[in-house]
Amino acid sequence: MKHVAFAGRLVILGFGSIGQGVLPLILRHIDLPRDRITIVTAEERGQDVAAEYGIRFILQAATRENFEELLSPLLAKGDFLLNLSVDVSSVELMKLCRKLDVLYLDTVVEPWAGGYTDTSLTPSQRSNYAMREAAVALREEMRGGPTSVTAHGANPGLVSHFVKQALLDIARDTGAPVASPPPASDRAAWARIAAGLGVKVIHIAERDTQVADRPKQPGEFVNTWSVDGFVGEGCQPAELGWGSHEKALPADGHRHGFGCDAAIYLMRPGASTRVRTWTPLEGPMHGFLITHNESISLTDYYTLRDATGAVTYRPTAHYAYHPCDDAVLSVHELAGKNWQMQPEKRLMTDEITQGMDELGVLLMGHAKGAYWYGSRLTIDQARAAAPHNNATSLQVTAAVLAGVIWAMENPRQGLVESDEIDHARVLEICAPYLGDVVGVYSDWTPLQERGVLFPEALDATDPWQFGNFRVT
Ligand code: NAD
Repeated sequence: MKHVAFAGRLVILGFGSIGQGVLPLILRHIDLPRDRITIVTAEERGQDVAAEYGIRFILQAATRENFEELLSPLLAKGDFLLNLSVDVSSVELMKLCRKLDVLYLDTVVEPWAGGYTDTSLTPSQRSNYAMREAAVALREEMRGGPTSVTAHGANPGLVSHFVKQALLDIARDTGAPVASPPPASDRAAWARIAAGLGVKVIHIAERDTQVADRPKQPGEFVNTWSVDGFVGEGCQPAELGWGSHEKALPADGHRHGFGCDAAIYLMRPGASTRVRTWTPLEGPMHGFLITHNESISLTDYYTLRDATGAVTYRPTAHYAYHPCDDAVLSVHELAGKNWQMQPEKRLMTDEITQGMDELGVLLMGHAKGAYWYGSRLTIDQARAAAPHNNATSLQVTAAVLAGVIWAMENPRQGLVESDEIDHARVLEICAPYLGDVVGVYSDWTPLQERGVLFPEALDATDPWQFGNFRVT
């Protein structure tokens, strides 16, 4: 059961749904005495869970002004900072960890409070693209230093490992098996596999069907994971990795003009941008194109260039998220109120009565059409597998656990993105917590909906154009 023994101390910053859900997994799978763990968080929420496990609990928000003073006494060379907070700059925390020689993991590149919606910044400046660029800019100065894993939850995180497994499956099933998968550090080799298979589009296709014993009330935002986290990212501009097969930039699409140039953004919030997508159990559905780190990191990772540096292959990648039905209603109400947050918010936990999170990657454009690979985890399976989790959080917390273990096993890697981590090791650690992990082929394309009720313009010469996925 214990994957690794850790000799340092562990500080968990933020103790909401993910912090509370991962603590029992850490205690179960990492050999680390409880008195070496400290929780630092901004609210009393979770204090009972910390007490249940006998973990020290410090109630203090980290801010621009105090974070160094707050955290430095708790961390020294060889320790671990696990950042599961909102509103605390990931980049500043990574710099602090580099200075203190401390291992680090977060699940998202988070700005300081208000950073997602700061209208004094341009949409490009407050995009996930810009935040990822700021994080990966630390790569050189962190090389050879303590491992800092950036953006490793379920998505971003686990889905990068699903993509690798899906590519190997498609290669096997199309008669071009990969005898020995390249190491994750060899991006060009992985990009050649994706290009060779003809993968044009990758969706993170997720359908959450969890329902509670009480419906959403007017004036209440309900979700199965952080309400603040979801509203924050949903209000950012929609962003997507922009593939080399795309014929035309959308009318409201923009390039950033700096950095790796792997992604574009649309001049509208992701929570009001819908795309056609597909999961095996739900079938065809409309999902929100919410900006996410993995849309950009995947597209950047799977890029091939010629000798002049020009891009020769790059897939389109983005999130296509159908949250639980009460969250869809919550988004609808939020948008109607000019994106002003409802007075009440509720994170669904014990009141969930049924449903599952069907979370996977949908790889399209190859010889077998579309292939979804991912996790189907019901609320009952999640509750049986670990305390203080629902189906959504367990997919995240299992991946956080796996990322933490990988960092402890590989402590001098400097800054690492999910795509650069050994997918087989992560999937092995996560397996007991993902319910049914399945791969399913489909002949679904976004063209199937077109023309059913109203004839629409479509590009039948290539079903995999973004213009065919987008619901206008
Ligand atoms: P949550 O809202 O339930 O909890 C956030 C926690 O952060 C709370 O304990 C809060 O008190 C604490 N916090 C807020 N401000 C703080 C501050 N200034 N200093 C210290 N602590 C502070 O959120 P969650 O669902 O647990 O999610 C945590 C983070 O993980 C979010 O950033 C979210 O976006 C991210 N997340 C990532 C994934 C993924 O798959 N990659 C999935 C879910 C959540």
